[in-house]
Amino acid sequence: MTDTSLEATCRDCGQSLSFHLDETAPARCAECFDGFMRARDVAFLSSYAELGVTSRRVIAETSLRALALESPPARKVLAMHIMEQYVQVVGDLIGLYHALRQRGGEPMMKAFLEFQVDRDSALAFFREMASLSEQELLDSLGLPMPDEIARRCPSLSKSDVRDLRKAMVQMLGDLKRTGDMGEGAALALAQATGEGRGGAALVKQSDWLDSVGLRPDQVASIAIDQKRRTISVSAISVDEKRLQGVVSVIGAMTNAASGLIYAVLTMYQEEERRGRARGSRRA
Ligand SMILES: [Zn+2]
Repeated sequence: MTDTSLEATCRDCGQSLSFHLDETAPARCAECFDGFMRARDVAFLSSYAELGVTSRRVIAETSLRALALESPPARKVLAMHIMEQYVQVVGDLIGLYHALRQRGGEPMMKAFLEFQVDRDSALAFFREMASLSEQELLDSLGLPMPDEIARRCPSLSKSDVRDLRKAMVQMLGDLKRTGDMGEGAALALAQATGEGRGGAALVKQSDWLDSVGLRPDQVASIAIDQKRRTISVSAISVDEKRLQGVVSVIGAMTNAASGLIYAVLTMYQEEERRGRARGSRRA
């Protein structure tokens, strides 16, 4: 051990952990931390499904309602705010899809919270949504086809089967709709993530930037593009019809995320009941 390293103890297994003077003491070793998260994956998903999953839609819908009553400058701010929710909901859905699909690997909470969306992962996601058949898509997620639910989940009541079936049919439609938007969404996302979260600024004009000027109904957000050493400008117009369309797509992605979580949680529930039944037979 060198002079600059210190010792801490994992609060779960008691193993000693060394860390450096300029670091904060770790609470757990890496394996125990994974176990800690894995044990809470189901609780996390169900709690996120109850609130967090709808957060982008709530903000977008509220902004759209407020926009109708506001003066032009505030309308521009709200319009851009709706676009930001759009970019964020795309990121949320892709992260969730990735986390659910790899379940059994990394803890889902970790895979979801640490997922970094970029242009490539977004394009891959939209391409998959557009090209995979329903069967392939559900297989990759370890989920049954809607008509297979009763067989795969024998512990569900008839009405539970009906509810899940309805939710899954809706979810497949919403995912398909998400896939149809493809490239545009991926580009918007790439621009936003290139901005390094929160680093963008709204501007009224862009002609001072050696850039094309904005029309009076437009607003732009600008950010530094370090890689290309330029300033990127993403402009949108405040068009209520169009923004309504964006809000409805945000709604579709929110529903798709809720449906995915609902289906996955039902599979966990089914596995748990099966495990319990096996346990009681053995006893
Ligand atoms: Zn440990």
